[in-house]
Formats: sequence, C-alpha cells, structure tokens
Amino acid sequence: MTVRMFTGACGLALMGAGAWFLLYGPDAQDPWEVAKWLGGFLLVHDGLVVPLTLAAGFAVSRARAARGALRGAFLVAAALTAVALPPLLRPGPPANPSVLPLDYVRNWALCVGATVVAGLSAALACRARGLRQTGAMPELPEVEALAGFLAERLTGRTVERVLPVAVSVLKTYDPPLGAVEGHRVSGVTRHGKFLDLATEGGPHLVVHLARAGWVRWHDRLPDTPPRPGKGPLALRLRLTDGAGFDLTEAGTRKRLAVHCVREAADVPGVARLGPDPLAPGFTLDAFAALLRGERRQLKGVLRDQSVLAGIGNAYSDEILHAARMSPFKPAANLTEEETAALYEALRTTLDDAVERARGHAAADLKAEKKTGLRVHGRTGEPCPVCGDTIREVSFADSSLQYCPTCQTGGKPLADRRLSRLLK
Ligand SMILES: [Zn+2]
Repeated sequence: MTVRMFTGACGLALMGAGAWFLLYGPDAQDPWEVAKWLGGFLLVHDGLVVPLTLAAGFAVSRARAARGALRGAFLVAAALTAVALPPLLRPGPPANPSVLPLDYVRNWALCVGATVVAGLSAALACRARGLRQTGAMPELPEVEALAGFLAERLTGRTVERVLPVAVSVLKTYDPPLGAVEGHRVSGVTRHGKFLDLATEGGPHLVVHLARAGWVRWHDRLPDTPPRPGKGPLALRLRLTDGAGFDLTEAGTRKRLAVHCVREAADVPGVARLGPDPLAPGFTLDAFAALLRGERRQLKGVLRDQSVLAGIGNAYSDEILHAARMSPFKPAANLTEEETAALYEALRTTLDDAVERARGHAAADLKAEKKTGLRVHGRTGEPCPVCGDTIREVSFADSSLQYCPTCQTGGKPLADRRLSRLLK
C-alpha cells in the first residue's frame, strides 16, 4: 500500500461521507447535530476508534515513503479523533461545558493513547525498514568483498548443479544455465555492482544483487532439493564436493538478476558501466573529464552507473558528506579545488569501505557496512564530525541523508514529503 493509495482512500471516504450527508444527513440547522451525525458516520461507534487509529498507523507504516508520511498519519489520526469524538461521546449539547463527564475523559484518553501508540509503532517499523532497505544494499565495497570471498572458495572447484529456484531470477536463456555445469570456476570478479563468476571453457554467471539480494555460503549444502516458491531462496549453485552457495532475496520486489552469458559484457548493465572509481587508471584528470559538461546535481551523477561504476545511494551520501558538499550542488559548478576535494573524498571513502569489508564473511558484510556509514541511514542521529542532527530528503522509493552544518551551510534542504502526501 503506497502513501498515494492511502491518501486516495481517505479522500474517497471523505467524499463519500459528504455525499451521504447531503442525501441523508440531518437538517443542517443545529451545528451540534451536524457534528454529532458526522462523527457517528465516520467512526460508527466509539469502540471502533482505537482499532481504526491503530490501523491507520500501521497502513502508513507499510507505505514506501513511510517516514515521510508519518507526520501525515499523525495529522489524519489526530484530526479524526478531534473531529469525531467530542460530539459522539457526549449524549447531547453539554448542559455545563465546564464539567466533563467521566466516560468522555476516559474515552478521550483511550483515543489519544491509541494515536500515540500507532504513531510510535509506525515510527519503529519505519526505522527498522529504513535501515534494512537503505543500509544493506550492496554497493562497490560489499560486492568487492563478496567477489573476494567467493573467489577464495570457488576458484578451481567444479560446478555440479545450478538450480534456479525463483522463476524471475534468470534473465537470459542462451546459453542455458546448465551450460555452466561440469566446468571449473576460473575466478570471481566485480564489475560495478555486478558479480562475475567465470568458468573455464563455459559461460559466465553474472549476478546483480539489487536491493535485497544476498549470497549465503554453505560448506555443505543440504541434500534435499530446495522447494520453489518458499522463502527467500532464488538460486542454488552446488559444487561437485557438496559445498556451494545460495542466492537469496528478501522482500517482495524481485530484482535479483542472474545472467548466463558468454562474456560479462553481454549483460547490457555491464556494457553500460562507466569507469571503476578504484581502478588504478582512474585519476583526478579522468574524474574531472567525467564531470565536464555534466548538467545534473552531484547526488545523481555519483549514483549513475554509466558515469561511475559501483556507487549507490549509501556511498554517494557518504562521499558527499566527506567532501562537505550539498547533494543538490550542480556538478558543472565545481571549481578545480572542489573537483579535487570530491575526488579525494570518493577515493578515501571507497578505499576505507573496501578495507573494512575485505576479509569479512558474506554473513557479516551487511552489519559491517551499516556500522561504517556516517550519515547514510542515520536520520536524527548526531553528525560524527560536527554534532549537528543528520537530516534527510525522501523520494518515491529512496531517501538521502546529509548534515546541514557540514554540507549545506546550515540550511535544511527542501523536503516535499508532506506536500506530496497531500497531493
Ligand atoms: Zn556535520
């Protein structure tokens, strides 16, 4: 359920209520009568207020841009509570408004409590979700470490079986996946965020882990064949000695992609890749040449795989924070010194991350990535450099984090989440 669907449903419900009111509502003479009727219509009975408020909170917590919608959810819940309750819970116009009936106070407290609980649970759910989604997507350093991890274990060993468990995972049909079987693995390398498993005399398996994909190594794979359609398992590769790995993908958005190709460059995403920022030939001059004539903002340029291979949402946030530059700064406006500073930040950030990730087992890499990030996925936490509160700007299916003091001269960047929510 997206924010747009949620707000759309709220809007439709309100329109329906309005239409019903015009057709069947009471004579709109006494405003108190009207309010009472509307309150009764919206909530049917005061016993429904608590579950309704909770449901609204959870619906919003499921929404993709949920952190952005949180304030909206509170507004909706609070407005419903405020509008509907007082007339509903008092049997008529209060004889003496300064005296509140006891059950009114009790119900009112229940509703406020429910709103707060709903909001808090939504906030917690969003926080967990945000970390899972933004912190864990493998980028250059993690894929580099994974390639090293797999190369160490696979090189020289022979593939016995490759089983695509999820239907959506295999993106090619020629050569068939089975063509890998019986060949020795000659090496595992990285192209941008792609893993490239090469075989001697056989095809390559090129894997893009996307947002929620991962590799799980087994020294001894289970003997029972995996059952399709159950759990996160997407593909299993077994070596002739019984070891092997599973490719898994959490969540419902199936983006994990496996290509069986003669050459890695046969994968369109690999063919499109720009230079690798950690390649020895990637000098300051090469970087400056890439930015020349670039009309976009830095955040977009850094993430564009056809400009630079391997940098995603997390490390572009980290690089811009290290370079003390706004994500929205136009690339064309960089002076020579700023270009040099950005280049330095890029190399240092990625080198450090690769250094941290190297040697970690596949299972530990995600946690390792999270602890190394200084601003990305850390909205509301203090900046480790200056102590200012890290802020975020969210988009349809992602968000960026930055430190106002370090990066934007103390000015918060415009975040149009609320206006989008109300669209
Ligand atoms: Zn800072």
